[in-house]
Amino acid sequence: MWPMTRLSPTSAGLIGLTARHSAPNYAPLPVVLSFGEGPWAFDVDGNRYLDCISAYSSLNQGHRHPRIIEALVEQAGKLTLTSRAVHNDSMGPFLEQLTGIAGMEAALPMNTGAEAVETAIKLARKWGYRVKGVPAGEARIIVCRNNFHGRTTTIVGFSTEAQYRADFGPFTPGFDSVDFDDADALRQAITPDTVAFLVEPIQAEAGIIVPQRGYLTEARRICREQNVLLMLDEIQTGLGRTGRLFAYEHDEAAAPDVLILGKALGGGVYPVSAVLASRELMSLFVPGDHGSTFGGNALASAVGSASLAVIIDEQLAERASRLGRKLRDGIESIGSDRLAAIRGRGLLLGLELERSSGPAGELALELLERGVLAKDTDRQVLRLAPPLVTEETTIDWLIGVLGDVLA
Ligand SMILES: *Cc1c(COP(=O)(O)O)cnc(C)c1O
Repeated sequence: MWPMTRLSPTSAGLIGLTARHSAPNYAPLPVVLSFGEGPWAFDVDGNRYLDCISAYSSLNQGHRHPRIIEALVEQAGKLTLTSRAVHNDSMGPFLEQLTGIAGMEAALPMNTGAEAVETAIKLARKWGYRVKGVPAGEARIIVCRNNFHGRTTTIVGFSTEAQYRADFGPFTPGFDSVDFDDADALRQAITPDTVAFLVEPIQAEAGIIVPQRGYLTEARRICREQNVLLMLDEIQTGLGRTGRLFAYEHDEAAAPDVLILGKALGGGVYPVSAVLASRELMSLFVPGDHGSTFGGNALASAVGSASLAVIIDEQLAERASRLGRKLRDGIESIGSDRLAAIRGRGLLLGLELERSSGPAGELALELLERGVLAKDTDRQVLRLAPPLVTEETTIDWLIGVLGDVLA
């Protein structure tokens, strides 16, 4: 653990306050942030950090992007929440923009990622019963081992991470696990009752596991042949992070039936998630089937619109591709023997450390001291995911810092 004596009294006081009044369900870095701007975050003592956590890719547009804050403030001055019991004047334009960008016909707005995944699960099951003809109560969904799709009881029930499940059962039935990046395993796991295959294009929480090129294309083909919905969880990989607008675009013809977005859809400002699908699929939901008090609220929709506009207008996907290549090349040229592997796409990188080099959590503390926020994802893997608006010269600086700690 970090010795508390190295923290300022202000930081230590605030960390203690949180510890006394909150649940200890996280193990945060010992830093208390009070200001953010672009790729930078500042702590209560005025120290500056490059934010390579980016709230798990929620901050693709950086902290407090001026256009997103402007949209937030403007909307806050007019109308914030109505519930879906009435219409508001910003949801329609937001969903038109979102579906246009994603090339899907319809979108259902939710708030958090986990809610969007739950929505996709309900949609797939209803499609299974009403369209595919699966007998009542028998629908099955195939998921991948080492997946991360959120923290609800249904979702942790199909996690293969022991800690996510332990003591939280009983769980929702109807899920089957296969190995990630194994199209044959998917083919063999499909039964007449299978309604969907739910998968992340890159398994980020599992340690930035990138599948072989063509895996999603093959999964797409199998799902189409077997009348199974392909549901891609792009909550973390989507919206520019991997160097394409959506990570599935790294493969050919891998467009999903159901696309799940969240995180950066809210521009680092507000929780905004969505499930996208065809009009035909989405029309299976009828009034009363599903809902969310806050989903698609006026403030969320205005923020969502501005968040998308920034990603498109500032060509953040292209930028992630360019900066990602630079960062990766820079790290490779360090030639550190503490590094076992570098994985990832665009600005979603995982540095896997040699066992002898200690856990990635220790490297995270070394980086914190040098002004870089980063966190371990798997025990040996450090995730580096700076905001996509980071300057090229800042990436050079980051490579220098990494050179110092990895030498
Ligand atoms: C973060 C994340 C989720 C869950 O999103 P929340 O907003 O935390 O509920 C689901 N899937 C993936 C791939 C994620 O990275």
